[in-house]
Amino acid sequence: VRSYLKIQDGCNSFCSFCVIPFARGKSRSLPVPALLSRMRELHAQGVQEIVLTGVHIGDYCDSETLGGPFLLEDLVEQVLRNTDIPRLRLSSLEPIELTDKLLEQFHNPRLCPHFHMSLQSLSTPVLQGMRRQYTADQVEWALKTIAEKWPQAFVGLDVITGFPGESEAFFHETYERLQAWPWTRIHVFPYSEREGTRATQLTEVVPIPVRRHRAKLLRELSAERYDQLAVNQLGQAKQVLTIKPLPDGYWRALSQDYWDVVVPAPANWHAGEIHQVRIQGYQRAQSRINGFLTAEVSA
Ligand code: SF4
Repeated sequence: VRSYLKIQDGCNSFCSFCVIPFARGKSRSLPVPALLSRMRELHAQGVQEIVLTGVHIGDYCDSETLGGPFLLEDLVEQVLRNTDIPRLRLSSLEPIELTDKLLEQFHNPRLCPHFHMSLQSLSTPVLQGMRRQYTADQVEWALKTIAEKWPQAFVGLDVITGFPGESEAFFHETYERLQAWPWTRIHVFPYSEREGTRATQLTEVVPIPVRRHRAKLLRELSAERYDQLAVNQLGQAKQVLTIKPLPDGYWRALSQDYWDVVVPAPANWHAGEIHQVRIQGYQRAQSRINGFLTAEVSA
């Protein structure tokens, strides 16, 4: 009932830690008409939600069809205008890829209010060492703009700890900014070297135990924030998509704003249905990573 649709492959950036541009080559995008027709096919087969994925979807560019160039924001506009897919979701973006036009598309309720931002660090010197194309100020702008325009949005982040040159002070910059700025959950990765990348030439190597310790601190921060925001969902009405039945008459469902929701449901529910529910509780998971909300069906 949910489907990932790869819209591009390869990448035009050369982040210093990443092998993808060497392994996958330059960015290539599937043409808009082919993607629209694939989405119509998927919807006809019962798919209710499509997630646009790729190696770097912010590089999406179809310049060969429909009098392009069509960028990601144009593709999203075309999908919302020319298909009936009930839900569309975007995968990873970088802060500078949040254009005004892309942000405007989120006024359409079919585009799920869910952002996944590949930030990697919130310290400008570390971002420069990584050869990322934005600064901490641009990260701040992106996170605060999302929070202001779409306060209900789920905002996932990717952050790497212990990249070469990430001093104690630079890590604390990242930590303190994360404490202060709005987001929902962080996927944390301790830095690991990839052979043949520029980052392996950098000298200020952070010892592995320090990388892991910093990752642990950020995971704890993430779990705390996630728990707090999950509790804030109580009482809210949400539209959910049924994913799969669970034992004892429950359904696992996914809200538009990316919360896992467990609902006690009538026997005649099926996978791939969209229902309105009201959030009643939050069940924190043992791992403190995959907690879920509980809900009742709205009248
Ligand atoms: S990290 Fe992402 S943006 Fe950077 S080179 Fe790799 S795929 Fe491209």
